[in-house]
Amino acid sequence: MDSIAYVNGSFVPLSQAKVSILDRGFLFADGIYEVSAVLEGKLVDNASHLARLERSLGEISLPLPESIARIIEIQKELIARNKLENGLVYIEVTRGADKGRDFAFPKGAQPTLVMFTSVKDIVNAESAKKGIGVITVPDIRWARRDIKSVALLAQVLAKQAAAEAGAGEAWMVEDGKVTEGGSSSAFILTQDDVIVTRQNGSDILPGCTRKAVVKLAEERQLRVEERPFSIDEALKAKEAFITSASSFVQAVVSIDGKAVANGRPGPLTNRLREIYIGFARETGT
Ligand code: PLP
Repeated sequence: MDSIAYVNGSFVPLSQAKVSILDRGFLFADGIYEVSAVLEGKLVDNASHLARLERSLGEISLPLPESIARIIEIQKELIARNKLENGLVYIEVTRGADKGRDFAFPKGAQPTLVMFTSVKDIVNAESAKKGIGVITVPDIRWARRDIKSVALLAQVLAKQAAAEAGAGEAWMVEDGKVTEGGSSSAFILTQDDVIVTRQNGSDILPGCTRKAVVKLAEERQLRVEERPFSIDEALKAKEAFITSASSFVQAVVSIDGKAVANGRPGPLTNRLREIYIGFARETGT
């Protein structure tokens, strides 16, 4: 059955949801997106995602065509209309359609706002029980990865390579250090029990799940160090994992076919996953 999507003021069946071929999101990837998880009918850490949406839009001087309060109403209406229990709500804002294909910002074009939902049982995902393998690829992205731009070609290629290798994610590597996953933040647990993840900056997306997990870990007196790490260090680590809205916390059990520790999800990863699911349940809106 067709789910309901939102396109520029209207709720329409997904198969009939359309934007112009002149839309700048289509022509130039001139747009920003955001993804919030839905757990048991409630949005997870949504304020954090909407704050990042506003920040990304600000960085490319693109006004949000609706207020944040209205965006939340639309998210909730989509969840209700689609009877979504567990899954994701996607938001995309582009600079809209002009009369042609001028690179500079068009004058008077109305931004496009598109939203839709998808079903995903994140808590019971098989991949979370077994952990995933990752492959490594060079990070060939642009220099402003802190902006959640819809220009995702480098990640499409990275994740396609991962899929072809039977892996669940690609870790992107720059100057000998992991930046992040194709659509997730990367973590390791060192032999002396320090949780390591790269510090925020223009070379990674500031993950909302990463931020929440770091805070939840620190509140429990777990040691966290925000710094880059190498693949060599990851292969010598006790545990490795990723975080994202669409996977929460998920173990990484191999890198380029080599096992991390015993090749099974580690106890700290499992604990952080349970802690995050608890946080998601308690704070969902
Ligand atoms: N890094 C990249 C490149 C991503 O695309 C994503 C999510 O799509 C993340 C990290 C994780 O961010 P979040 O936890 O906010 O979903």
